[in-house]
Amino acid sequence: MPEKKSVYQNVIRQFNHAAEVMNLDPDVKEILSKPMNEIIVNFPVKMDDGRIEMFTGYRVQHNNTLGPFKGGLRFHPNVNIDEVRALATWMTWKSAIADIPYGGAKGGIQIDPRKYSQSELERISRRFAFALGSNIGPEYDIPAPDVNTNGQIMAWILDTYQSTFPPQVRNTLLHVVTGKPVEAGGSIGRNKATGQGVCYCVEQWAKDHDFDLKKATFMVQGFGNVGSWAARLIAEKGAKLIAVQDHTGSIYCKDGIDAEKLADYVAEHRGIKGFPGVEEIKNEDFLSTEADIFVPAALENQLTAETTGKLKVKLVAEGANGPTDPDGDRILQEKGIDLIPDVLCNAGGVIVSYFEWLQNKRSEFWDLEEVDSKLYKKIIGGYKRVKEAAEKYKVDSRTAAYIVALSRILVVYKERGIFP
Ligand code: GLU
Repeated sequence: MPEKKSVYQNVIRQFNHAAEVMNLDPDVKEILSKPMNEIIVNFPVKMDDGRIEMFTGYRVQHNNTLGPFKGGLRFHPNVNIDEVRALATWMTWKSAIADIPYGGAKGGIQIDPRKYSQSELERISRRFAFALGSNIGPEYDIPAPDVNTNGQIMAWILDTYQSTFPPQVRNTLLHVVTGKPVEAGGSIGRNKATGQGVCYCVEQWAKDHDFDLKKATFMVQGFGNVGSWAARLIAEKGAKLIAVQDHTGSIYCKDGIDAEKLADYVAEHRGIKGFPGVEEIKNEDFLSTEADIFVPAALENQLTAETTGKLKVKLVAEGANGPTDPDGDRILQEKGIDLIPDVLCNAGGVIVSYFEWLQNKRSEFWDLEEVDSKLYKKIIGGYKRVKEAAEKYKVDSRTAAYIVALSRILVVYKERGIFP
């Protein structure tokens, strides 16, 4: 096995390249090349059998120039400070590209949540929120779901956070987390929002390239929230889902896989393995499937020097954060494969998080039509800015996305200056 690569190193390589192309102000470059705050908490939790186990949680706050820190919390065995730093930095770019008034943050706990009961997960989530204390807050740093976290976990975090305040002010704190269940103050459309954003971007790409989605085939890696919603929504546009991979294996069916049925199956069986009516293929053969569109929606560093050469697709639409490393990017360009980069393609989640936050602050409830049409406007606005920057600077779409983000943040540093 090759040594696991530093994800933050990827971010810095992408960042340095964009900074060089746009000739970024060296002072602003210096500031943005390090996260503002890095919080590590160790906390004890009582297990179902009465034992105490210690957990390590992280929250990295990269930048808050455009607004409060914002970003998800993930529960995964790979969570470490390097990964969280990278994910926090991507959140800063993502909010800036989507033109929403947030900075970037990310956090998580290094655990395999499958090993814990529901009541243990509740106590782990609550103790994590308690340990973070005032490092999060509705106008300061607002967590949301990410890999292996969901609305239920956000509801526990909200409840714990509120309980640390006097009863008179508790109802003013609803917007301390987003991605809550709708009944507990969440927004309609937040659950599918990241997949919806991926689908809007793919549709826009198809429009720009005179490409008929009804005749298209696509493949998806990862069938959690992002992958399963992207698959269902892209399939609704007439494209055929022909291959899927997740942590339990890879499946293929040239006549098409029913994304809706697969989502139901995964909800029950916790993975795609054993889904009836499809062919099981080897994991190493998955990436060489011939298809038009590939949506990586799992973890980082999937498209690398070793794997990217296998791809036989026209477009990679990144639902995950950081699925392609800089070598992977180079190979995509050499092969002429188009890319909708993560910081644009998967911004639908944080965009609808912003809508949820606004609704909470204003005690409003928007309907799905309103949420979806506003999401469309925001993400396609970002898509167009990235396309214009790619044309103007004659660069690939990831570099262009970075340039859009950095230009936006640069203006504010220039206007406000650096204290003192
Ligand atoms: N975790 C999601 C992301 O990576 C959503 C973040 C949010 O809604 O704050 O974009």
